Amino acid sequence: MSTVAITDIGSLVTNDPNVGHGALGLLEDAALVIDEGVISWVGHKSQLQATDELISVEGRTVLPGFVDSHAHLMFAGDRAAEFESRMNGQTYSAGGIRSTVAATRQASDVQLLENLTRLQAEMLAGGITTFETKSGYGLDVETEVRSLRLANQATSEVTYLGAHVVPAEYSSNPDAYVDLVCSQMLSAVTPHAKWIDVFCEQGAFDPDQARHILTAGKAVGLQPRIHANQLHAGNGIQVAVDCDAASADHCTHLTDHDIDLLAGSKTVATLLPGAEFSTRSPYPNARRLIDAGATVAIATDCNPGSSYTTSMAFCIAVAVREMGMTPAEAVLSATVGGAKALRRNDVGHLGLGARADFSVLNAPSYIHLSYRPGVNLIDQVWQGGQRSTK
Ligand SMILES: [Zn+2]
Repeated sequence: MSTVAITDIGSLVTNDPNVGHGALGLLEDAALVIDEGVISWVGHKSQLQATDELISVEGRTVLPGFVDSHAHLMFAGDRAAEFESRMNGQTYSAGGIRSTVAATRQASDVQLLENLTRLQAEMLAGGITTFETKSGYGLDVETEVRSLRLANQATSEVTYLGAHVVPAEYSSNPDAYVDLVCSQMLSAVTPHAKWIDVFCEQGAFDPDQARHILTAGKAVGLQPRIHANQLHAGNGIQVAVDCDAASADHCTHLTDHDIDLLAGSKTVATLLPGAEFSTRSPYPNARRLIDAGATVAIATDCNPGSSYTTSMAFCIAVAVREMGMTPAEAVLSATVGGAKALRRNDVGHLGLGARADFSVLNAPSYIHLSYRPGVNLIDQVWQGGQRSTK
């Protein structure tokens, strides 16, 4: 296999402080070498050794591919009308999920896969080279299994979210649905999932139910993650930390105690700026989390109800403007932060041995991702050492 050098990198974000300066591990006038799909050398371009192929990016910025650790891509249908009525003054509640459930149950495998493929292509064009996706719009055994089986065709980061909401047919007996999620449905999905997740929220599942569901998943080898504290404060963060969840996602309403819990654990706080944006809700304060020492990730939460965006650049810009992050912190959170939320160390950085997943920005620095909101700055995307767009 041949080696490829990317050179004339005006500004290289490695996220490896051993390679360059600051937390972003920045290098100027840099080059990197790809060998068998991984980074085999990084340094100043003047020290580049001969390679089989040499590609100049003419002074552009190179940064690690974005790692989107939270998305819901297994669905059918559209909720534009619900979005419009919300923007016309109605408030968001967890119940809107049920309309997507009805559409998803009726969709064929081909339709679900087409939707997934379309959104995956959007993500990749926008620089997301690793993504997670959840089930959670089936909420019956057959459709949850179908969703997860199809998701595996696109990513290895597949999450069972049978506990998204209680489906309409169980609304008078939610405990029976929790039993289904933890028994027959769990057995059926386990071969197709890596993670288990619960929407811990008023109107969805309470903290005791969430703990019960995550514990059942761990017992069969699934790794926990959780939707917590999106709409209200509550005990979701305690459940996350007690269960050693890889990530607690949303974290919009946190007490000082919740922040201490996160800072003292391996559980990443994943913030989802698109959700607050699209529901016109108050944003979480990333500054409190970062200053306390918690690890923070940013993800798209792409879903048809509350955050229908696949743009990590948009999420970065909102996180900087509305959540108190610096431009550097937002880039870190969207790359290495996302990797930590998936407990991965092969992606999210461009140090030696990392997967050669990166974007080339039509900009002189990473700052432009938040400085130029809404502008597509992605010139090239490379995944596993292969150039994948344009
Ligand atoms: Zn979500």
